Amino acid sequence: MNLPDIKEARKRTTNQTEYVYLNQEYDNKLFANQKYFLRTYGCQMNVHDGEEIAARLESLGFTSTDSIEDADVVVLNTCAIRENAHDKLYGFLGRCKHEKEKNNNDLIIAICGCMAQEENVVKDIMEKHPYVDIVFGTHNIHELQDLLINRTKKQNIDVYSCEGKIYENISYKRESDIKAWVNIQYGCDKFCTYCIVPYTRGKQRSRKKEDIVNEVKDLKEKGYKEVTLLGQNVNAYGKDIYTDYNLANLLTDVAETGIERVRFVTSHPWDFTDEMVDVIASYDNVMPYIHLPLQSGSNKILKLMNRRYTKEEYLELYNKIKTKVKDCSITTDIIVGFPNETEEDFNETLEVVNKCKFDSAFTFIYSPREGTPAAKMEDSISMKEKEDRLYKLNELINEYSKEANERYLNKVVPVLIEGISEKDKDKVFGYTDTMKLVNVINAKDKIGKIIDVKITDAKSFSLDGEAI
Ligand code: SAM
Ligand code: SF4
Repeated sequence: MNLPDIKEARKRTTNQTEYVYLNQEYDNKLFANQKYFLRTYGCQMNVHDGEEIAARLESLGFTSTDSIEDADVVVLNTCAIRENAHDKLYGFLGRCKHEKEKNNNDLIIAICGCMAQEENVVKDIMEKHPYVDIVFGTHNIHELQDLLINRTKKQNIDVYSCEGKIYENISYKRESDIKAWVNIQYGCDKFCTYCIVPYTRGKQRSRKKEDIVNEVKDLKEKGYKEVTLLGQNVNAYGKDIYTDYNLANLLTDVAETGIERVRFVTSHPWDFTDEMVDVIASYDNVMPYIHLPLQSGSNKILKLMNRRYTKEEYLELYNKIKTKVKDCSITTDIIVGFPNETEEDFNETLEVVNKCKFDSAFTFIYSPREGTPAAKMEDSISMKEKEDRLYKLNELINEYSKEANERYLNKVVPVLIEGISEKDKDKVFGYTDTMKLVNVINAKDKIGKIIDVKITDAKSFSLDGEAI
């Protein structure tokens, strides 16, 4: 048994990251005729981990099911970013417990992901949820098959709090055969005071450039049209392993593979270089879309958050991108109700939103995470006040989202068609280069292709169009 330890998770050394080239083979009849139910919560990183978990389960012979009643193993791939993620997990665990007690004593219940890296969560699972069979963390997904094969009747808990290694030769069961996530970096060393990620995912460590470029080439050969380079701070890519190779160089090499669309998330404003802006501006297949989290428009709050930029620096970067990258769409993340955020601080955030007129934004009420510095800060603002601020912010964001979408009316734009629309089976959906969701008529035979679409209607969160 290995338990998470927040003190270990917080440690950072100058040790070089170890690269492990896995060579794993399993008998795919071991769990033949058995089914797995996988539920993933949270960010793109978790979604991509979910694709690895699915491939690992299938390497043992499991096939997937959408219902826990049919499942032999349930895997809950969790998120720890906000408290409501905890509520969601415990709600769902209740259903799993009921299923195990009433209908299927042999049901294997496994918990993994960021919550599994939290000391208090694992303690709680040991004390109050003995029906959970396996707990593993973000650092040992590659051990999943062995954990299943070697599990004992007791709870099998194997979570490591460490800086982390990089594992290569990983198989994924990708959710799409049109667009793919490609990890370029793991972990985070920014230690924003509100955020749990540096503790749950280890130190910032970059994959080697050749491993990334080869993965993209392979995806292109398989017919993928789009890759999204993934990391918590993609702009800091390479700093830990190269002196003369950075994200601008990697973007260039990935663009040069000729894959039709290249995206990247998430960009921290701190490491965004002019060189990067130039690369985005000069390659047609690097999409003019940047997710650039602001978090707050008040310098006082940004400092308390340890974001290491001021609102003036953010605005300067924002304007530089908008000037150099033609028709670039910029989206953001904003937290309201951070400890001691006054009405004036909040109004400064609204001012920055009014200046930037973001294409859209993910907005959150600050949620204290145990073990982070902000969780120890005194917080005098009531929840009602926080909710009012969120409401006001969302009203403004939605106004600008609608405005941004309205600029597309009657224009013809390239859209990568991804599949049949869930709401209307006569339509297909896809995304513009600027990441606008478009529902399209007359294009059912165009799935997997980039086509010209005339925009006929603009709503706050999507566009309608017709193939021409
Ligand atoms: N690495 C990215 C960055 O630096 O912006 C984002 C990582 S996080 C998965 C996504 C977003 O969740 C953050 O940008 C932040 O707005 C939000 N978030 C993180 N911790 C939070 C907390 N404790 N309470 C509320 N929102 C939080
Ligand atoms: Fe969290 Fe900050 Fe790292 Fe983003 S940069 S993952 S918000 S600590």
